[in-house]
Amino acid sequence: MEFNLSNISSESNKQEKVHTSVLVLGSGPAGLSAALYAARAELNPVVLGGMEFGGQAALTHIIENYPGFPDGVGGSDLAELFKKQAERFGARFEFDVATEVDLSKRPFYLKSYNKEYLADTLIITTGASPNHLNVPGEKELTGRGVSYCATCDGWFFKDKDVAVVGGGDSALEEGLFLTRYAKSVTIIHRRDQLRAGAILQERAKKNEKMRFIWDSIVTRINGSEKVNSLNLKNVKTGEESDFPVDGVFIFIGHTPNTQLFKGQLEMDEKGYIVPDLLMRTSVPGVFAAGEINDPNYRQVITSAGMGAAAAIQATRFLEDHESA
Ligand SMILES: Cc1cc2nc3c(=O)[nH]c(=O)nc-3n(C[C@H](O)[C@H](O)[C@H](O)COP(=O)(O)OP(=O)(O)OC[C@H]3O[C@@H](n4cnc5c(N)ncnc54)[C@H](O)[C@@H]3O)c2cc1C
Repeated sequence: MEFNLSNISSESNKQEKVHTSVLVLGSGPAGLSAALYAARAELNPVVLGGMEFGGQAALTHIIENYPGFPDGVGGSDLAELFKKQAERFGARFEFDVATEVDLSKRPFYLKSYNKEYLADTLIITTGASPNHLNVPGEKELTGRGVSYCATCDGWFFKDKDVAVVGGGDSALEEGLFLTRYAKSVTIIHRRDQLRAGAILQERAKKNEKMRFIWDSIVTRINGSEKVNSLNLKNVKTGEESDFPVDGVFIFIGHTPNTQLFKGQLEMDEKGYIVPDLLMRTSVPGVFAAGEINDPNYRQVITSAGMGAAAAIQATRFLEDHESA
C-alpha cells in the first residue's frame, strides 16, 4: 500500500494512517520550535502533541526569562503563540499520545490511540517529568508556591521563607541559587546525610541563609491561594510538625519520558537519550531535542533551541536522502 501526505483509512483496522516527512513527538517548547523550523522548510510536519499541550512550560503561570517578553508571558499563552506561528507555515497538530513505535526501518512506524503514522524522519521531544512527592496539596498548589524550577520561579520568593525538598546535587545547587532571593532556604531531607558532592555541601553549610531539617519527609502541603506551610514527619521518631513556608521547591529527580524507545535507541543509565551535537540519535533519521536529552539546563529557551536544531538536521537528512 502506498501512503501519501493526506490521511487515508486502513482497511485492516479502520484507523487513519498518515505518512509525513517529519513527525514531531511532543508539543512542549522543543516540539513547537521543531515544528516551526520544519514548517518553514516547507515539510508540513505533523506534531503529535501528547496530553500536555505546551509541555511543562504550560504549567507555569508566568515565564519571565524567555527573551522578547519584557513583561513576562503566561506559559500556555507562549505555547499558543508558538503553535500559531508553526501553523502559519503549515504545521499540523494532533492531540494524541504515541503508544507504540518501530524504529527498525524507514519510514518509522508510530501508533497513537487514534491513528497510525509513517514518518521519514522523527523528532522526539517528549521531555522529562520532575518527580513528584505525591502528597496532598502538591498538585493543587503547583505554580502557587510549589515549584520544580528555582531558575524559573526563584525571583517570586524575594525575602520569603522557602523550603527545598531533596538531598542531591540539584537540591543544593537550586537551594543555593534561591538564597539570592529568599530570606531563608530550608533543605528538608529524608536522611541524616546529603547525597550532594562535598564542595556543594560545604558551600551550603556555610551559607547563612541555609538551614537543614534532617530525617524528615513532607506529608502534606498546606494553603488555599498560596502555600503557607508543610506538614513534616520525622522518619526516625515518627514526630509530626507544621513548618510555615511561603514556597516549596521539589528536587527529587527527573524521569525522562523515553520508555517508548527502550531497546530501540541508545540511552544513558538514567534513560536520557544522548544525541550527538547535531541532535542525531543512534538511529539515522531520528532526532531528539529538549529535556529528553538535557538533565542540566531544563529551560524553555534551551529546549526550544534544541528543537530548532533538530528540525534543521531533519531537513538536511531528508535533502541528503532525497538526492542520494
Ligand atoms: C512548573 C514549571 C515551571 C517552569 N517555569 C519555567 C520558566 O519560568 N522558564 C523556563 O525557561 N523554564 C521553565 N520550566 C522548565 C520548562 O518548562 C522546560 O524546560 C521545558 O518545557 C522543556 O521543554 P520540552 O519541550 O523539552 O519538554 P516538555 O515541556 O516536558 O514537553 C514534553 C511534551 O511531550 C509530550 N509527550 C510526552 N509523552 C508523549 C507521548 N507518548 N506521545 C506524544 N506526546 C508526548 C507532552 O504532552 C509534552 O507536550 C518550568 C517547568 C515547570 C515544571
